[in-house]
Amino acid sequence: MSHQHNTNTSRRALLKQGAALAAGVGGLMVAGPSAAATSSPSPKFDEIFDIIVVGSGFAGMSAAVQAAEEGAKVLVIDKMPVFGGNSTINGGAMAVASSGLQAKSSIEDSVELMVSDMLKSGRGMNDAEMLKLVCDGTAESARWLESYGTVWKPFVQHFGGHSVPRVLQTRESSGAGIIRPLIAAAKKAGVTMYKQTKLISFVQDEQHRVIGVKVKSGYFFPKERTGKDKLLGARQGVIMATGGFGRDIPFRQMQQPRLTSELDSTNHPGANADALKQMMLIGANPIHLDQIQLGPWSSPDEKGFGTASQFNTAATYQNGIVVDVRTGERFFNELADRKARAEAIMTRRDAQGQPVYPVGFTNEKGAAKAQTLEWGLKYDVIKKADTLDELAGLYGIPAEKLKAQVAQWNQYVRDGEDKQFGRPLMKAFELTQGPWYAVRMWPKVHYCMGGVRVNTHSQVLHLISDKPIPGLFAAGEATGGIHGASRLGACAVAEGVVTGRNAARSAAKADAVSLKLA
Ligand code: ADP
Repeated sequence: MSHQHNTNTSRRALLKQGAALAAGVGGLMVAGPSAAATSSPSPKFDEIFDIIVVGSGFAGMSAAVQAAEEGAKVLVIDKMPVFGGNSTINGGAMAVASSGLQAKSSIEDSVELMVSDMLKSGRGMNDAEMLKLVCDGTAESARWLESYGTVWKPFVQHFGGHSVPRVLQTRESSGAGIIRPLIAAAKKAGVTMYKQTKLISFVQDEQHRVIGVKVKSGYFFPKERTGKDKLLGARQGVIMATGGFGRDIPFRQMQQPRLTSELDSTNHPGANADALKQMMLIGANPIHLDQIQLGPWSSPDEKGFGTASQFNTAATYQNGIVVDVRTGERFFNELADRKARAEAIMTRRDAQGQPVYPVGFTNEKGAAKAQTLEWGLKYDVIKKADTLDELAGLYGIPAEKLKAQVAQWNQYVRDGEDKQFGRPLMKAFELTQGPWYAVRMWPKVHYCMGGVRVNTHSQVLHLISDKPIPGLFAAGEATGGIHGASRLGACAVAEGVVTGRNAARSAAKADAVSLKLA
């Protein structure tokens, strides 16, 4: 009897939860042990702002500065002890359609061409409307960044998967060249910024509108018991710019079982799914979560992003070749998109399934723009050889085969056609003269294409109603769909800046609710 009774009760409770979710309810009613939201008739806040931005990477800082431009009283919180997330440790490269630098080099480009390149790389899975919005905003957003102090190198680069050279890069070859000026601009504009402040859950009013966040202030990652509870109110909205979950091994393995702890990640240690889970708990629709990008330019000989990533992006892939050490032969188009390259590299295994790390290399001319060369050499990640015979000896590559492959490559460059893999040769040159610089390669978990579903106003959409969750906006890597199955290089900065600003403009237009201080 009592068992029957319990079952009925829990069935009733479940039905009630289902109904609540269907209505977009995210209050205590639907929350389990880790409460997703605080919903009280009139919560008292410790502090009140117009817009709260969670996360201080490209998306968060762009949102904050844009929201301040719109006249909003803005707060940025970040859970980590330093601002900038993955954005400060990335390469600072931004894909821009029809930039002034392209015009100077007589490179013809268009928003449509960038959209079509990204659709191709995304295997057609992309959210086409958001993709268009991002590409459309790149040229203006690059100028906006410049106006706040970002300085681009004076040339455009050709990254894999882009049909023309369209990549601008900060002179520092780092996202810090974008984040630092934006933080300075935000502070100058009166934006309040709290680090070590972790979003724990959302505060919603009785209409289920997000009106603030519960945080742990003084939080010390990764110690979950640290910090003091605070309620922070947001009259117009909360913008989630919380990045991806590349370092959350259990969560990423739930999406893609092969992404075990054996695979390193280029991400900062805090790149986990905590914030995403909170959005899901109040009904946000998670899409494409299993689309997780592996960066094809990293090296197994160092941790994280390291020195090889910039070296391979600026030198090996654009100006060199990558070979299988067993054959000395190329085995893929070095300018293919990231997914194609990473998958190709990961096919190089021995009979036991263990990686046989391929080697990428170029010569002095090819490495001229690699700012990490010196450090890579210092830490022995990048190796130098005066001759191809010496290079072959360093990695156990059959020397004659390696030399034959280089000769064949040079012939393709002279002919203007890569008969092996169809690589675009616009900027290619013959590899005739040493010294040579080389690196062993193996992919690392880099970027989550998936995240919450948003509309073109950057409003987060509810799983069941597909309508905006009132008061909740999202931007950058925290959102899903823009890149489809694979993001092209330099498109995260583009996405972060454009969608961060878009979210800020939308939030600044939202009606303000009246909130009470404690
Ligand atoms: P994007 O490139 O999309 O801007 P980043 O990874 O550069 O993404 O930045 C995301 C930021 O969000 C990181 O600095 C991270 O520490 C922060 N963040 C993630 N989850 C939380 C959270 N729960 N509370 C506060 N900050 C968070």
